Amino acid sequence: MSVLARVAARRLAAARAVIPGLWRGQYFSSGKEPAENNPVTPMLRHLIYKIKSTGPITVAEYMREVLTNPAKGYYVTRDMLGGKGDFITSPEISQIFGELLGIWFISEWIATGKNAAFQLVELGPGRGTLLGDILRVFSQLGSVLRNCDISIHLVEVSQKLSEIQALTLTEEKVPLEREAGSPVYMKGVTKSGIPISWYRDLQDVPKGYSFYLAHEFFDVLPVHKFQKTPQGWREVLIDIDPQVSDKLRFVLAPCATPAEAFIQCDETRNHVEVCPDAGVIIQELSQRIALTGGAALIADYGHDGTKTDTFRGFCDHKLHDVLIAPGTADLTADVDFSYLRRMSQEKVASLGPISQQTFLRNMGIDVRLKILLDKSDEPSLREQLLQGYRMLMNPEKMGERFNFFALVPHQRLHGRNRQTNACQSKPSGFGELVWR
Ligand code: SAH
Repeated sequence: MSVLARVAARRLAAARAVIPGLWRGQYFSSGKEPAENNPVTPMLRHLIYKIKSTGPITVAEYMREVLTNPAKGYYVTRDMLGGKGDFITSPEISQIFGELLGIWFISEWIATGKNAAFQLVELGPGRGTLLGDILRVFSQLGSVLRNCDISIHLVEVSQKLSEIQALTLTEEKVPLEREAGSPVYMKGVTKSGIPISWYRDLQDVPKGYSFYLAHEFFDVLPVHKFQKTPQGWREVLIDIDPQVSDKLRFVLAPCATPAEAFIQCDETRNHVEVCPDAGVIIQELSQRIALTGGAALIADYGHDGTKTDTFRGFCDHKLHDVLIAPGTADLTADVDFSYLRRMSQEKVASLGPISQQTFLRNMGIDVRLKILLDKSDEPSLREQLLQGYRMLMNPEKMGERFNFFALVPHQRLHGRNRQTNACQSKPSGFGELVWR
């Protein structure tokens, strides 16, 4: 029986509301988002105070404060996902998404010789929905993973979301251990008995053979923005508007700023966004994977070094002016996969970016959908599965704008399989799913 059939045989569709919500890869900022209201939020007050004392701030500093300030940050204080939030993501739309990613990790684990143990590390796990679907696949394929010692490690800055993740993933039969000031700020056991720990920083996750997952995580990391001018590159900064009280505006730095060092000498665009935090994380992941094995799977909306101004905001499933009511709306910028590839510094091999549609098709989404439809006689559930499939796969929806990108050890592509001594196949998703 194929792996997809085995997963399906034990479990039918999990109820998931298909919300006709807004997905963040869908829009670009027009720069003309409605701005009739400019409420003075606590975050705006904080930023005005900061700018008055030290001068205009970079867009990266603005994003960092607005999104992850420990007291008032957008991500730290709310649940922004789903119908009642500000935007919707693939795992919240369809269970099939997480199931196929679960199969990807197992398939990589098998292809690299079934290590006796692995860590699954997720960066920015949102509500824990994606991981919940992955862990369900791990349970259903328990016979395959029987002798493997698995642990889960979540990197999450949001206290609010980490509580929701704990609710989704653990039954709290074993009470969670909490230690606010410690690098491992929460610990517990998942519903299926796997140890799970929470960290604020990837650096604190133990090193060792690991699979890393980041879905719609890199797009929220702070970007620096630069504009080409006759005088050379100038960084875009955020200042107080002298004409309107309590209003922010974009300005250009009068001279070169240190972050300019991130721009490539052969850059041909007139406007670029660079995300040094993403570079640091990719370097860390690459070093770890090169040293101890495993893989990283990164999925996000983005481009391969071609786009320019993609910085935008979302609130209540609508585009939102990034400078209005900071702290109440999500801020995001497209991921530059060419930059991620460069930052891996060839310590590992990179695959992709390839479109979500191609990746999911290679992973067998059509077979999985058919199995679920065949097993389900409830019309509303069938409709929900079909709607979810269309949202994920349609090129006009999430099929093309979202991309998959992976980092694997060089020997994964060029070496020989330890168990079978056979040449390696390409990791599933980036080629056809080979594990049956
Ligand atoms: N992966 C989820 C959620 C995406 S939203 C999904 O696809 O549904 C972004 C997630 O990253 C949230 O969980 C947010 O709290 C977290 N996050 C944002 N900035 C972070 C940072 N600097 N470090 C760790 N987590 C962060």
